[in-house]
Amino acid sequence: MSLPILEDLGDVSGRRVLLRADFNVPIRDGVVVDDFRIRATLPTIEWLTERGAAVTACSHLGRPKGKPDPRYSMEPVRDVLAGLAPNVELLENLRFDPGEEANDPAFVQSLIEGQDFYVNDAFGASHRSHASVVGPPGFLPSAAGRLLQREIEMLLPLRNDPGRPFVVILGGAKVSDKLGVIGALLRVADTIVIGGGMCFTFLKAQGHAVGSSLVEEDMVETCRELLEREGDKLLLPVDLTALGPGGEIGEPDAGGEVRQIGVDVPDGWMGLDIGPGAAAEFGDLVMEARTVFWNGPMGVFEDPRFAAGTRAVAEALAESHAFTVVGGGDSAAALDEFGLASEIDHVSTGGGASLELLELGDLPGLEALRASATGGARNEQSGAPNA
Ligand code: ADP
Ligand code: MG
Repeated sequence: MSLPILEDLGDVSGRRVLLRADFNVPIRDGVVVDDFRIRATLPTIEWLTERGAAVTACSHLGRPKGKPDPRYSMEPVRDVLAGLAPNVELLENLRFDPGEEANDPAFVQSLIEGQDFYVNDAFGASHRSHASVVGPPGFLPSAAGRLLQREIEMLLPLRNDPGRPFVVILGGAKVSDKLGVIGALLRVADTIVIGGGMCFTFLKAQGHAVGSSLVEEDMVETCRELLEREGDKLLLPVDLTALGPGGEIGEPDAGGEVRQIGVDVPDGWMGLDIGPGAAAEFGDLVMEARTVFWNGPMGVFEDPRFAAGTRAVAEALAESHAFTVVGGGDSAAALDEFGLASEIDHVSTGGGASLELLELGDLPGLEALRASATGGARNEQSGAPNA
Protein backbone atom coordinates (compact mmCIF):
# COMPACT_ATOMS: atom_id res chain seq x y z
CA MET A 1 0.00 0.00 0.00
CA SER A 2 1.47 3.29 -1.05
CA LEU A 3 -0.53 5.84 0.84
CA PRO A 4 1.81 8.44 2.41
CA ILE A 5 1.56 8.30 6.21
CA LEU A 6 2.56 10.70 8.99
CA GLU A 7 6.17 9.48 9.06
CA ASP A 8 6.52 10.45 5.40
CA LEU A 9 6.04 14.13 6.28
CA GLY A 10 9.48 14.34 7.83
CA ASP A 11 10.15 17.01 10.47
CA VAL A 12 6.95 18.84 11.44
CA SER A 13 8.44 20.73 14.39
CA GLY A 14 7.46 24.40 14.31
CA ARG A 15 5.46 23.86 11.10
CA ARG A 16 1.76 24.42 10.44
CA VAL A 17 -0.43 21.45 9.61
CA LEU A 18 -3.94 21.60 8.15
CA LEU A 19 -5.83 18.56 9.46
CA ARG A 20 -9.01 17.48 7.67
CA ALA A 21 -10.92 15.57 10.33
CA ASP A 22 -14.38 14.03 10.39
CA PHE A 23 -16.03 15.82 13.29
CA ASN A 24 -19.50 15.29 11.83
CA VAL A 25 -20.91 14.24 15.21
CA PRO A 26 -24.48 14.12 16.52
CA ILE A 27 -25.43 17.31 18.37
CA ARG A 28 -28.49 17.92 20.51
CA ASP A 29 -29.33 21.30 22.11
CA GLY A 30 -25.90 22.64 21.30
CA VAL A 31 -24.07 19.73 22.93
CA VAL A 32 -22.12 16.87 21.32
CA VAL A 33 -23.95 13.66 22.30
CA ASP A 34 -21.37 11.20 20.96
CA ASP A 35 -17.70 12.16 20.73
CA PHE A 36 -16.53 8.83 19.18
CA ARG A 37 -15.39 10.49 15.96
CA ILE A 38 -13.54 13.29 17.77
CA ARG A 39 -11.67 10.80 19.96
CA ALA A 40 -10.88 8.67 16.92
CA THR A 41 -8.68 11.47 15.53
CA LEU A 42 -6.73 12.07 18.77
CA PRO A 43 -3.86 9.70 17.89
CA THR A 44 -3.17 11.81 14.80
CA ILE A 45 -3.49 15.10 16.67
CA GLU A 46 -1.19 13.85 19.43
CA TRP A 47 1.38 12.54 16.94
CA LEU A 48 1.55 16.00 15.37
CA THR A 49 1.46 18.16 18.49
CA GLU A 50 3.98 15.99 20.38
CA ARG A 51 6.39 16.69 17.54
CA GLY A 52 5.85 20.42 17.81
CA ALA A 53 3.46 21.03 14.92
CA ALA A 54 0.79 23.73 15.10
CA VAL A 55 -2.45 22.02 14.06
CA THR A 56 -5.44 23.67 12.42
CA ALA A 57 -8.32 21.21 12.20
CA CYS A 58 -11.29 21.49 9.86
CA SER A 59 -14.44 19.45 9.26
CA HIS A 60 -17.95 19.60 7.91
CA LEU A 61 -20.94 19.19 10.20
CA GLY A 62 -24.36 18.24 8.87
CA ARG A 63 -25.71 19.70 5.64
CA PRO A 64 -25.86 23.50 5.90
CA LYS A 65 -26.05 23.79 2.07
CA GLY A 66 -23.24 26.28 1.44
CA LYS A 67 -24.20 29.08 3.81
CA PRO A 68 -23.68 29.86 7.49
CA ASP A 69 -26.36 28.34 9.70
CA PRO A 70 -26.05 28.53 13.49
CA ARG A 71 -27.63 25.06 13.84
CA TYR A 72 -24.50 23.60 12.24
CA SER A 73 -21.91 25.73 14.01
CA MET A 74 -18.71 23.94 15.08
CA GLU A 75 -18.94 25.60 18.51
CA PRO A 76 -20.09 22.41 20.35
CA VAL A 77 -17.25 20.47 18.72
CA ARG A 78 -14.81 23.23 19.70
CA ASP A 79 -15.91 22.81 23.34
CA VAL A 80 -15.17 19.07 23.27
CA LEU A 81 -11.92 19.48 21.38
CA ALA A 82 -10.71 22.13 23.85
CA GLY A 83 -10.94 19.50 26.58
CA LEU A 84 -9.21 16.77 24.58
CA ALA A 85 -6.61 18.71 22.58
CA PRO A 86 -6.35 22.25 23.96
CA ASN A 87 -3.81 23.64 21.48
CA VAL A 88 -5.62 22.72 18.29
CA GLU A 89 -7.33 25.43 16.32
CA LEU A 90 -10.65 24.54 14.67
CA LEU A 91 -12.05 26.24 11.58
CA GLU A 92 -15.78 26.91 11.16
CA ASN A 93 -17.95 24.33 9.35
CA LEU A 94 -16.42 23.81 5.89
CA ARG A 95 -19.85 23.50 4.31
CA PHE A 96 -20.76 27.06 5.31
CA ASP A 97 -18.86 27.90 2.11
CA PRO A 98 -20.32 26.65 -1.20
CA GLY A 99 -16.71 26.18 -2.39
CA GLU A 100 -16.28 23.11 -0.19
CA GLU A 101 -18.77 20.82 -1.93
CA ALA A 102 -18.09 22.42 -5.33
CA ASN A 103 -14.34 21.77 -4.93
CA ASP A 104 -13.69 25.42 -5.79
CA PRO A 105 -9.95 26.13 -6.33
CA ALA A 106 -10.29 29.52 -4.59
CA PHE A 107 -11.66 27.79 -1.50
CA VAL A 108 -8.77 25.30 -1.58
CA GLN A 109 -6.35 28.26 -1.64
CA SER A 110 -8.04 29.86 1.36
CA LEU A 111 -7.68 26.57 3.28
CA ILE A 112 -4.00 26.03 2.57
CA GLU A 113 -2.93 29.64 3.09
CA GLY A 114 -0.11 29.77 5.65
CA GLN A 115 -0.02 25.97 6.01
CA ASP A 116 3.06 23.78 5.49
CA PHE A 117 1.53 20.30 5.49
CA TYR A 118 -1.84 18.62 5.00
CA VAL A 119 -3.10 15.55 6.84
CA ASN A 120 -6.34 13.77 5.97
CA ASP A 121 -7.85 11.80 8.85
CA ALA A 122 -11.44 12.16 7.64
CA PHE A 123 -12.15 8.65 6.43
CA GLY A 124 -15.91 9.30 6.60
CA ALA A 125 -15.55 12.13 4.03
CA SER A 126 -12.89 10.63 1.78
CA HIS A 127 -15.41 9.29 -0.75
CA ARG A 128 -16.34 12.91 -1.53
CA SER A 129 -14.42 14.99 -4.07
CA HIS A 130 -14.80 18.06 -1.89
CA ALA A 131 -12.28 20.91 -1.66
CA SER A 132 -10.88 20.03 1.77
CA VAL A 133 -10.51 16.34 0.81
CA VAL A 134 -8.96 16.43 -2.66
CA GLY A 135 -7.58 19.99 -2.95
CA PRO A 136 -4.71 20.50 -0.48
CA PRO A 137 -2.61 17.47 -1.55
CA GLY A 138 -2.09 19.21 -4.89
CA PHE A 139 -0.19 21.97 -3.10
CA LEU A 140 1.17 20.72 0.22
CA PRO A 141 3.20 17.67 1.23
CA SER A 142 0.41 15.44 2.53
CA ALA A 143 -0.28 12.27 4.48
CA ALA A 144 -3.01 10.05 5.82
CA GLY A 145 -3.61 10.34 9.55
CA ARG A 146 -3.65 7.31 11.82
CA LEU A 147 -7.42 6.82 11.66
CA LEU A 148 -7.57 6.96 7.88
CA GLN A 149 -4.59 4.61 7.71
CA ARG A 150 -6.25 2.12 10.06
CA GLU A 151 -9.58 2.20 8.20
CA ILE A 152 -7.81 1.30 4.95
CA GLU A 153 -5.73 -1.41 6.61
CA MET A 154 -8.84 -3.00 8.12
CA LEU A 155 -11.21 -2.67 5.17
CA LEU A 156 -9.12 -3.35 2.06
CA PRO A 157 -8.14 -6.93 3.00
CA LEU A 158 -11.85 -7.78 3.03
CA ARG A 159 -11.93 -6.96 -0.63
CA ASN A 160 -8.57 -8.32 -1.62
CA ASP A 161 -7.61 -11.23 0.57
CA PRO A 162 -10.15 -12.25 3.22
CA GLY A 163 -9.63 -15.26 5.46
CA ARG A 164 -12.22 -17.91 4.54
CA PRO A 165 -15.00 -18.57 4.99
CA PHE A 166 -15.84 -14.90 4.46
CA VAL A 167 -19.41 -14.12 5.50
CA VAL A 168 -21.05 -10.77 4.72
CA ILE A 169 -24.18 -9.71 6.55
CA LEU A 170 -26.17 -6.93 4.92
CA GLY A 171 -29.29 -5.25 6.19
CA GLY A 172 -30.64 -1.75 6.62
CA ALA A 173 -33.38 -0.05 4.75
CA LYS A 174 -32.74 -0.05 1.02
CA VAL A 175 -31.32 -2.40 -1.59
CA SER A 176 -30.64 0.54 -3.90
CA ASP A 177 -28.16 1.99 -1.36
CA LYS A 178 -26.17 -1.23 -1.31
CA LEU A 179 -26.43 -2.76 -4.76
CA GLY A 180 -22.91 -1.66 -5.72
CA VAL A 181 -21.34 -3.22 -2.68
CA ILE A 182 -23.40 -6.41 -3.07
CA GLY A 183 -22.00 -6.77 -6.58
CA ALA A 184 -18.41 -6.22 -5.47
CA LEU A 185 -18.67 -8.48 -2.42
CA LEU A 186 -20.31 -11.28 -4.40
CA ARG A 187 -16.98 -11.63 -6.17
CA VAL A 188 -15.09 -12.24 -2.95
CA ALA A 189 -17.51 -13.43 -0.23
CA ASP A 190 -18.45 -17.07 0.36
CA THR A 191 -21.90 -16.15 1.64
CA ILE A 192 -23.90 -12.93 1.67
CA VAL A 193 -26.71 -12.89 4.17
CA ILE A 194 -29.53 -10.45 3.45
CA GLY A 195 -31.72 -9.20 6.27
CA GLY A 196 -33.30 -5.89 7.27
CA GLY A 197 -35.72 -3.92 5.13
CA MET A 198 -33.87 -4.88 1.96
CA CYS A 199 -34.75 -8.58 2.26
CA PHE A 200 -38.35 -7.92 1.20
CA THR A 201 -37.42 -6.83 -2.30
CA PHE A 202 -35.52 -10.12 -2.64
CA LEU A 203 -38.38 -12.12 -1.09
CA LYS A 204 -40.82 -10.50 -3.49
CA ALA A 205 -38.49 -11.39 -6.38
CA GLN A 206 -38.74 -15.01 -5.20
CA GLY A 207 -42.53 -14.78 -5.40
CA HIS A 208 -43.30 -14.44 -1.70
CA ALA A 209 -46.06 -12.23 -0.32
CA VAL A 210 -44.61 -9.15 1.37
CA GLY A 211 -47.74 -7.48 2.82
CA SER A 212 -47.02 -3.86 3.70
CA SER A 213 -43.28 -4.43 4.21
CA LEU A 214 -40.70 -2.07 2.76
CA VAL A 215 -40.23 -2.99 -0.92
CA GLU A 216 -38.44 -1.15 -3.71
CA GLU A 217 -40.57 -2.06 -6.70
CA ASP A 218 -38.03 -0.82 -9.22
CA MET A 219 -35.39 -3.14 -7.75
CA VAL A 220 -37.42 -6.37 -7.83
CA GLU A 221 -36.18 -7.32 -11.30
CA THR A 222 -32.55 -6.60 -10.37
CA CYS A 223 -32.92 -8.77 -7.27
CA ARG A 224 -34.47 -11.55 -9.36
CA GLU A 225 -31.44 -11.49 -11.68
CA LEU A 226 -29.04 -11.50 -8.75
CA LEU A 227 -30.80 -14.49 -7.23
CA GLU A 228 -30.71 -16.33 -10.54
CA ARG A 229 -27.02 -15.68 -11.07
CA GLU A 230 -25.70 -15.83 -7.53
CA GLY A 231 -28.46 -17.63 -5.66
CA ASP A 232 -26.07 -20.16 -4.11
CA LYS A 233 -24.18 -17.36 -2.35
CA LEU A 234 -27.16 -15.29 -1.22
CA LEU A 235 -28.97 -16.32 1.93
CA LEU A 236 -32.35 -14.88 2.86
CA PRO A 237 -34.20 -15.22 6.20
CA VAL A 238 -36.29 -18.37 6.78
CA ASP A 239 -38.65 -16.52 9.10
CA LEU A 240 -39.67 -13.02 10.14
CA THR A 241 -41.11 -10.94 12.94
CA ALA A 242 -44.05 -8.87 11.75
CA LEU A 243 -46.37 -6.15 12.99
CA GLY A 244 -50.11 -6.47 12.43
CA PRO A 245 -52.54 -3.92 10.96
CA GLY A 246 -52.92 -0.71 12.97
CA GLY A 247 -49.65 -1.11 14.84
CA GLU A 248 -47.10 1.64 14.88
CA ILE A 249 -43.34 1.38 14.75
CA GLY A 250 -41.50 2.79 17.74
CA GLU A 251 -44.62 2.83 19.91
CA PRO A 252 -44.81 -0.44 21.84
CA ASP A 253 -48.26 0.44 23.16
CA ALA A 254 -49.76 1.65 19.89
CA GLY A 255 -51.75 -1.54 19.44
CA GLY A 256 -51.16 -3.94 16.62
CA GLU A 257 -50.03 -7.46 17.14
CA VAL A 258 -46.43 -8.69 16.88
CA ARG A 259 -46.06 -12.21 15.51
CA GLN A 260 -43.38 -14.63 14.35
CA ILE A 261 -44.21 -15.71 10.82
CA GLY A 262 -42.61 -17.57 7.92
CA VAL A 263 -41.42 -15.69 4.85
CA ASP A 264 -44.86 -14.88 3.47
CA VAL A 265 -46.18 -11.67 5.01
CA PRO A 266 -49.99 -11.49 5.18
CA ASP A 267 -51.91 -8.51 3.78
CA GLY A 268 -51.72 -5.47 6.05
CA TRP A 269 -48.77 -6.89 7.99
CA MET A 270 -45.27 -5.47 7.95
CA GLY A 271 -42.05 -7.48 8.28
CA LEU A 272 -39.85 -5.52 10.67
CA ASP A 273 -37.21 -8.00 11.82
CA ILE A 274 -35.79 -11.38 10.90
CA GLY A 275 -37.30 -14.22 12.93
CA PRO A 276 -35.62 -16.46 15.54
CA GLY A 277 -34.86 -19.22 13.02
CA ALA A 278 -33.04 -16.82 10.71
CA ALA A 279 -31.24 -15.19 13.64
CA ALA A 280 -29.94 -18.58 14.77
CA GLU A 281 -28.88 -19.55 11.25
CA PHE A 282 -27.08 -16.22 10.65
CA GLY A 283 -25.43 -16.51 14.07
CA ASP A 284 -24.15 -20.02 13.27
CA LEU A 285 -22.68 -18.80 9.98
CA VAL A 286 -20.84 -16.04 11.81
CA MET A 287 -19.47 -18.52 14.33
CA GLU A 288 -18.10 -20.72 11.51
CA ALA A 289 -16.54 -17.82 9.55
CA ARG A 290 -12.96 -16.60 9.61
CA THR A 291 -13.87 -13.14 8.32
CA VAL A 292 -17.16 -11.29 8.83
CA PHE A 293 -18.30 -7.94 7.48
CA TRP A 294 -21.58 -6.56 8.76
CA ASN A 295 -23.45 -3.54 7.43
CA GLY A 296 -27.04 -2.65 8.18
CA PRO A 297 -29.40 -3.67 11.01
CA MET A 298 -31.48 -6.86 10.59
CA GLY A 299 -34.66 -5.04 11.61
CA VAL A 300 -36.04 -1.80 12.99
CA PHE A 301 -33.85 -2.19 16.08
CA GLU A 302 -34.78 1.31 17.32
CA ASP A 303 -38.05 -0.34 18.46
CA PRO A 304 -37.22 -2.98 21.10
CA ARG A 305 -39.89 -5.35 19.70
CA PHE A 306 -37.86 -5.59 16.47
CA ALA A 307 -34.31 -5.54 17.85
CA ALA A 308 -33.81 -9.28 18.46
CA GLY A 309 -32.40 -10.12 15.03
CA THR A 310 -29.90 -7.27 15.07
CA ARG A 311 -28.92 -8.15 18.63
CA ALA A 312 -28.40 -11.82 17.72
CA VAL A 313 -26.10 -10.90 14.83
CA ALA A 314 -24.21 -8.37 16.99
CA GLU A 315 -23.76 -10.96 19.75
CA ALA A 316 -22.50 -13.57 17.29
CA LEU A 317 -19.93 -11.11 15.93
CA ALA A 318 -18.87 -10.21 19.47
CA GLU A 319 -18.44 -13.86 20.40
CA SER A 320 -16.84 -15.06 17.18
CA HIS A 321 -13.08 -15.58 16.81
CA ALA A 322 -13.28 -14.39 13.21
CA PHE A 323 -11.83 -11.06 12.06
CA THR A 324 -14.92 -8.89 12.44
CA VAL A 325 -15.55 -5.55 10.74
CA VAL A 326 -18.67 -3.41 11.01
CA GLY A 327 -19.52 -0.46 8.73
CA GLY A 328 -22.52 1.84 8.73
CA GLY A 329 -23.72 4.50 11.14
CA ASP A 330 -26.84 2.67 12.28
CA SER A 331 -25.06 -0.66 12.68
CA ALA A 332 -22.38 1.03 14.80
CA ALA A 333 -25.11 2.72 16.85
CA ALA A 334 -26.77 -0.68 17.42
CA LEU A 335 -23.46 -2.15 18.63
CA ASP A 336 -23.07 0.77 21.03
CA GLU A 337 -26.59 0.33 22.32
CA PHE A 338 -25.91 -3.34 23.03
CA GLY A 339 -22.55 -2.47 24.64
CA LEU A 340 -20.69 -4.73 22.19
CA ALA A 341 -18.59 -2.29 20.15
CA SER A 342 -15.38 -3.14 22.02
CA GLU A 343 -15.75 -6.82 21.09
CA ILE A 344 -15.49 -6.07 17.35
CA ASP A 345 -12.09 -5.95 15.63
CA HIS A 346 -12.91 -2.82 13.66
CA VAL A 347 -15.93 -0.53 13.76
CA SER A 348 -15.58 1.85 10.85
CA THR A 349 -16.16 5.57 11.38
CA GLY A 350 -17.46 5.87 7.83
CA GLY A 351 -20.75 4.49 6.53
CA GLY A 352 -20.85 5.51 2.88
CA ALA A 353 -17.05 5.64 2.68
CA SER A 354 -16.62 2.07 3.92
CA LEU A 355 -19.13 0.73 1.38
CA GLU A 356 -17.56 2.71 -1.44
CA LEU A 357 -14.07 1.54 -0.53
CA LEU A 358 -15.25 -2.08 -0.54
CA GLU A 359 -17.03 -1.54 -3.84
CA LEU A 360 -14.31 0.33 -5.74
CA GLY A 361 -11.10 -0.41 -3.84
CA ASP A 362 -10.19 3.28 -3.76
CA LEU A 363 -11.56 6.69 -2.77
CA PRO A 364 -11.01 10.21 -4.19
CA GLY A 365 -9.35 11.34 -0.94
CA LEU A 366 -6.86 8.45 -1.11
CA GLU A 367 -6.06 9.06 -4.77
CA ALA A 368 -5.31 12.71 -3.94
CA LEU A 369 -2.93 11.72 -1.13
CA ARG A 370 -1.08 9.22 -3.31
CA ALA A 371 -0.59 11.89 -5.97
CA SER A 372 0.77 14.43 -3.45
CA ALA A 373 4.38 15.56 -3.16
CA THR A 374 5.05 13.23 -0.19
CA GLY A 375 4.09 10.04 -2.00
CA GLY A 376 7.58 8.94 -3.02
CA ALA A 377 9.63 9.41 0.14
CA ARG A 378 9.12 6.06 1.89
CA ASN A 379 6.99 4.31 -0.71
CA GLU A 380 8.82 4.20 -4.00
CA GLN A 381 6.26 2.01 -5.74
CA SER A 382 3.24 4.36 -5.70
CA GLY A 383 0.29 2.79 -7.36
CA ALA A 384 -3.18 1.53 -6.66
CA PRO A 385 -3.68 0.71 -2.98
CA ASN A 386 -4.75 -2.81 -3.87
CA ALA A 387 -1.85 -3.49 -6.20
P1 ADP B 1 -26.33 1.59 8.21
O1 ADP B 1 -26.42 3.02 8.69
O2 ADP B 1 -25.80 0.68 9.27
O3 ADP B 1 -25.62 1.47 6.90
P2 ADP B 1 -28.91 1.76 6.94
O4 ADP B 1 -28.84 3.24 7.07
O5 ADP B 1 -28.80 1.17 5.61
O6 ADP B 1 -27.83 1.10 7.94
O7 ADP B 1 -30.29 1.25 7.53
C1 ADP B 1 -30.67 1.46 8.86
C2 ADP B 1 -32.17 1.57 8.98
O8 ADP B 1 -32.83 0.47 8.39
C3 ADP B 1 -32.58 1.60 10.43
O9 ADP B 1 -33.07 2.87 10.75
C4 ADP B 1 -33.66 0.53 10.52
O10 ADP B 1 -34.79 0.95 11.25
C5 ADP B 1 -34.05 0.31 9.07
N1 ADP B 1 -34.63 -1.03 8.87
C6 ADP B 1 -34.08 -2.21 9.19
N2 ADP B 1 -34.94 -3.22 8.92
C7 ADP B 1 -36.05 -2.67 8.42
C8 ADP B 1 -37.32 -3.19 7.99
N3 ADP B 1 -37.58 -4.48 8.01
N4 ADP B 1 -38.23 -2.31 7.55
C9 ADP B 1 -37.97 -0.99 7.52
N5 ADP B 1 -36.81 -0.44 7.93
C10 ADP B 1 -35.86 -1.26 8.38
MG1 MG C 1 -27.67 4.63 8.09
